[in-house]
Amino acid sequence: MSKVTVAKSAGFCFGVDRAVKMVYQELEKNSRVATLGPIIHNQDVVNDMQAKGARMIDSVDELTPDETVVIRSHGVGRDIYSQIEAKGCRVLDATCPFVSRIHKIVSEKSKEGYFILIAGDSSHPEVQGIVGHCDENHLVFKDNFELKDFFEKKYKNLGKKLAIVAQTTYNIVVWDECLNVIPKDDPDIVIFDTICNATDTRQSDAAELAKSSDIMLVVGGRHSSNTVKLFEVCSRYCKTYHIENSGELRSLKLPAAERIGITAGASTPAYIIKEVQTTMAENNLTEIQDEEIDFAQALDESFKKIHTGEKVKGIVVSIDNAEITVDLGTKHTGYVKLEDLTDDPSQKPEDIVKVGDEIELIVIKVNDAEGTAQLSKKKVDEQAGYETVLKAYEEGTVLEGVVQHVVNKGVTLTYLGVRVFIPASQTGLPRGAELDELLKKKVEFKIIEVTEGKKRAVGSIKAVQNARKAEAQAKFWETAEVGQTFVGKVKSLTSFGAFVDLGGIDGMVHISELSWKRIKHPSEVVSIGDTLEVYIKDLNREENRISLGYRKAEDNPWEIFKANYHVGDVVKATIVSITSFGAFAKIIDGVDGLIHISQIADKKVENVKDILSVGDEVDVKIIDIDTEAKRISISMRALLDSEDADEAEEESSDVVYSDEAGIAPAEDAE
Ligand code: SF4
Repeated sequence: MSKVTVAKSAGFCFGVDRAVKMVYQELEKNSRVATLGPIIHNQDVVNDMQAKGARMIDSVDELTPDETVVIRSHGVGRDIYSQIEAKGCRVLDATCPFVSRIHKIVSEKSKEGYFILIAGDSSHPEVQGIVGHCDENHLVFKDNFELKDFFEKKYKNLGKKLAIVAQTTYNIVVWDECLNVIPKDDPDIVIFDTICNATDTRQSDAAELAKSSDIMLVVGGRHSSNTVKLFEVCSRYCKTYHIENSGELRSLKLPAAERIGITAGASTPAYIIKEVQTTMAENNLTEIQDEEIDFAQALDESFKKIHTGEKVKGIVVSIDNAEITVDLGTKHTGYVKLEDLTDDPSQKPEDIVKVGDEIELIVIKVNDAEGTAQLSKKKVDEQAGYETVLKAYEEGTVLEGVVQHVVNKGVTLTYLGVRVFIPASQTGLPRGAELDELLKKKVEFKIIEVTEGKKRAVGSIKAVQNARKAEAQAKFWETAEVGQTFVGKVKSLTSFGAFVDLGGIDGMVHISELSWKRIKHPSEVVSIGDTLEVYIKDLNREENRISLGYRKAEDNPWEIFKANYHVGDVVKATIVSITSFGAFAKIIDGVDGLIHISQIADKKVENVKDILSVGDEVDVKIIDIDTEAKRISISMRALLDSEDADEAEEESSDVVYSDEAGIAPAEDAE
């Protein structure tokens, strides 16, 4: 008992299936139908069509004006269309869309002055049709050897750019060999891989099956080019037989084989493959595998209808700048226009999908007469996006998007195809700020409202910022301790201090904590945006208040003075203020000493201003330091002569200060 396996993609392809259905549908309503050549390379199907009234003709001359002529999936050249038009006949064009794509390529490239190279069989109707869309500058080559010959002998003197296409059913192995022959990195050569995905897949599946089979049966018409190619592909791996139908199987003397594989050409209907299987089973040759294709179902599915609004799956088969073509596995050619692929004007179709991708689509419009279906990927994305947005709304998820437009009273962005409006009040920008600031910026937002019917949503950047702030605050209060240091940015200034952002929560440095010197406003020391190293001086958990310290002990001018200056030292000092009882003079930044009126000169001074002015630099002797009271007495007189100096030092004990810290108070200065 042998085990029989049928290749995954055996049988009718999309293009043949579509053409056959077009003929049968036409025959139902019109008895005057003629097919220009056999609609497929399968005599059984052709016989059935003829029995139903179709007339097969070989040339346009045979047509009568009342007939509808069907152009088969192979397509025809431009001249044939002209001839039919001249005859006045109606055309039912069943050219496979993949073949039409080649016509379009060669026609455009010919107009641009390219020389067209076509990989294929010059006697095949599809290739003749392609040639019929080129001008005289073209060449059909059979294989890599002929192509090599062209490059060696003709290309150099051609003086033209090259466009290379392939017959849809071209052998993929030979195509790879051809690609090796084509000069690399030649900017004057463009290659279009026009081998049909169905052919490619069928050949790959057949090759895989042949590798694990003892014999292969290839079912299909003797004149079917793709069937012949399947035969060639399978023959490389095992003994292979080409049969047209189950009848031929009976006369075949198959050798004993444990594993038999079956594949079939694109023109082979499912029922013929099924008959082959049944015949093998009836002759007790086989044990049919469970995972084989259910042909009844496959046939049924191939007649499947699609409806507007329905969600369908399709395989991307071609991509150009304006649209993509999709194989829906039905009789329809599916296409998706660029505007139905994406909302993003910067994207091209090839940025979104690639050939071979399976994608979900929504049917926008079906045209059964033309066999086309307009589809939208955007609608599927919008639907999926809306579901995600709805979930994000319910769960409070933070989303990310790029602001696309500034509109009246807010900004908008698109999230997974859903339009999200962010009102100005929810942008997180200060009141009155320009919304343009957000344009093209990536933002985080939460959905705060959804409009189900319109599939729109309202978002809030501020909600994210507030949530982040609350999180940061909770974290801060969990771990905050007096003495902890932080590096933060100055967010705002008031007359009583500077507010510093500690990472989502603000603390305040009081004005007195900003400097060791007396300052009138925080802006004398810091500016908004400055980075400060601060420490927690005090925490008020009930009122969520954080007092920060900024001054450092090592910068305390009094400490610096104590460490560097002593009684008896002579120093230079600058008069900073004058009072009725003397003058204050700066010894170092933040430390002033008092020159008592009695210590200014060696004679009685009536008015300090007669001798000193603010800004004068004078030599003074430190005659007393009161560490506790932080007072320093300095004397000019002590430097005059030794007798006076002694007196000066004795009198220093009588000095009366008006400033407790020994720092000249500005309000006392004249
Ligand atoms: S093999 Fe491909 S190109 Fe040819 S008719 Fe079928 S689907 Fe169209």
